[in-house]
Amino acid sequence: MSTPSGIAALKHLDLDGHDLPPSPAPSSPSNGRKYALATELSATFKGGPGQEYDYTRSGNPTRTALERHMAKIMNANRALVVSSGMGACDVITRILKPGDEVVTGDDLYGGTNRLLTYLKTHGGITVKHVDTTKLDVVKAALSAKTTMVLLETPTNPLIKIVDISGISSAAHEASRECIVAVDNTMMSPYLQNPLDLGADVTYESGTKYLSGHHDLMAGIIGINRAELGERFYFMINSTGCGLAPFDSWLLLRGVKTLAVRMEKQQTNAMAIANFLESRGFKVRYPGLKSHSQYALHDSQARGAGAVLSFETGSVALSERIVESTKLFGISVSFGCVNSLISMPCRMSHASIDPATRKERSLPEDIIRLCMGIEDLTDLIDDLSQALVRAGAVRLTGDSFVALAAEHVEGQTGRTTQVVDEP
Ligand SMILES: *Cc1c(COP(=O)(O)O)cnc(C)c1O
Repeated sequence: MSTPSGIAALKHLDLDGHDLPPSPAPSSPSNGRKYALATELSATFKGGPGQEYDYTRSGNPTRTALERHMAKIMNANRALVVSSGMGACDVITRILKPGDEVVTGDDLYGGTNRLLTYLKTHGGITVKHVDTTKLDVVKAALSAKTTMVLLETPTNPLIKIVDISGISSAAHEASRECIVAVDNTMMSPYLQNPLDLGADVTYESGTKYLSGHHDLMAGIIGINRAELGERFYFMINSTGCGLAPFDSWLLLRGVKTLAVRMEKQQTNAMAIANFLESRGFKVRYPGLKSHSQYALHDSQARGAGAVLSFETGSVALSERIVESTKLFGISVSFGCVNSLISMPCRMSHASIDPATRKERSLPEDIIRLCMGIEDLTDLIDDLSQALVRAGAVRLTGDSFVALAAEHVEGQTGRTTQVVDEP
């Protein structure tokens, strides 16, 4: 060993390179000649039947690195990564059998709603949509037949909070076999860990906060019970929805900045929520004391996140506000570094028919804001000019005066596209 004494502290490191993991390059031929570079370059990872990595659908070193990292971040014993958030929801719900019963919310992500509806019409599964913000309502819907409880909190765009711990206890009391799964996309593991609150499964779209840059699609599943992990892994290997190695690498890179992004996005969201509330709009954001479930959210999460919604009293006015912003992209997604604005009833939730939207008290004029990491003053200036141009407020001197929705008229340039749930 030729380790210089000055770096004795690094003794445990293999500075001479003798203990490096074996190169995937094939070993030299027996005739004493070294293989040519073209032969060595063409090697991928080595693996064969029975070894940890023999085929990428079944397992890949980069995907494993991401899964181990995610498990740690999610406070889970095991994490599995798949090709999208909906892919994760598909893997989880594939363990259901005809006759099984699912209890879930009435303000679900549109894609989840669509998948559950398909399982209901094609898979013989009973799906009960209830107001999951009310523990007694959930309890009344639970029975020994309940196989799965599927929750989302905060919901989107109504920003309703669901008591993860209370519902998990009630579900396990109703049926020991019941699996409580929580869609944690709106919070990310940085702000909320459903497994710590009693859930059996946590999953989320890695397309949103975990990636942070809208440059990949991914879904993550976190579990503590080994047996559940094996069932999900079986589905992933059988259907081939495991995350590709390159996307796994990209997600490993994106997640490095989750904390700084989320902190900044959340600070911007809090300031915008206060700004809108002080101008007289009805704002939904779990960081506001005016949110009726502020205490519940605070008890189970470490922050309010970066998604908020507000109502203007008029669909036409909301459309004009959305169309008048310049910094906010008009888009259905969230979790990226740039700020987005949308009208859920015209965009992400357009696939839910108007009658159902009404039944679920989804206001047609609701505007959703997903805050990015831009400069706060620029964001407030942009929103202010949009409110003025749309006629929602009038600037008198230094202060804004809110105008009643029915008095406003105006024209703007950008158009709100009607986009179905992606
Ligand atoms: C985006 C989203 C999903 C689906 O994730 P994809 O990666 O787009 O498939 C699921 N749940 C929630 C709450 C989401 O916002």
